[in-house]
Amino acid sequence: MADVIKTVEEMSMYCHKAKLQGHTVGFIPTMGALHEGHMSLIRQARVETSRVIVSIFVNPLQFTIGEDYNRYPRNLTGDIRLVAMAGGDVVFAPSVGELYPKGFITRIDQDGLPEQLCGEFRPGHFRGVMTIVAKLFHIVQPDITYFGQKDYQQAVIVHRMAADLNFPLKVKVMPIVREPDGLAMSSRNSFLGPKQRKDAACLYRSLRLAERLVRDGERSTAKIIGHMRKEIRRVKGARIDYINIVAPETLTDVKEVCGKVVAAIAVRIGKTRLIDNAIIS
Ligand code: AMP
Repeated sequence: MADVIKTVEEMSMYCHKAKLQGHTVGFIPTMGALHEGHMSLIRQARVETSRVIVSIFVNPLQFTIGEDYNRYPRNLTGDIRLVAMAGGDVVFAPSVGELYPKGFITRIDQDGLPEQLCGEFRPGHFRGVMTIVAKLFHIVQPDITYFGQKDYQQAVIVHRMAADLNFPLKVKVMPIVREPDGLAMSSRNSFLGPKQRKDAACLYRSLRLAERLVRDGERSTAKIIGHMRKEIRRVKGARIDYINIVAPETLTDVKEVCGKVVAAIAVRIGKTRLIDNAIIS
């Protein structure tokens, strides 16, 4: 069983001691309801570092009004077991009051990146993400931290924040883990009914289509996006938030595919908002 730590003080102390003993600290921040995607990050940390910390905290700051904070899936007991199975040493599971005590008013922000892609649909979301991630970095002081490409924009923003604010750590971004039909694993997939679950595979189909078009020589992103939209519209219950093809570091739209680009997509299936992406070159 992995150890469970609930207070900031104990968590800082644990990591401080581990460092003094010569350990390297690997850190995976999560919101829990763990699945194979999270497990892949934990396994990678197990290989590369000697103390592996997984935080489980549904961060109220990154949910905007009307989003699913209250119904976000929570399963701490199951998560603790999965962390141990993947080779994690410690679960850091603080309460909301522990991380945001009365009087907490500070936020971390960034120009540009947080306004792209999901930013338009989730105002304030990335401020919440950066604020919690910066706090967790200070508490855990990891040598390497692991993020999933599944949340591509988040990974780019965190990478930038860590560089800009001189966090002495390495941000590693790991590949997207998928279900057999291609749906990217996500804690939110549990919200999907059987029909919606089938429909949800349309995100991956549209990304594969984009890859195929580029391979066949198509360079116009407007045309590629047009085909991707058509693919999604074949599914009745699917509503597109955005489909963009962007530059990998600035996340700004590109007109022609040239070198590496990222096709990023957000679609609502019923009330569930799903995101996915593919790096195409
Ligand atoms: P979350 O619990 O959704 O905040 O995710 C915690 C971390 O796991 C983030 O860095 C995610 O990008 C990553 N993650 C979530 N789903 C996947 C997936 N299907 N494949 C790889 N990483 C993932």
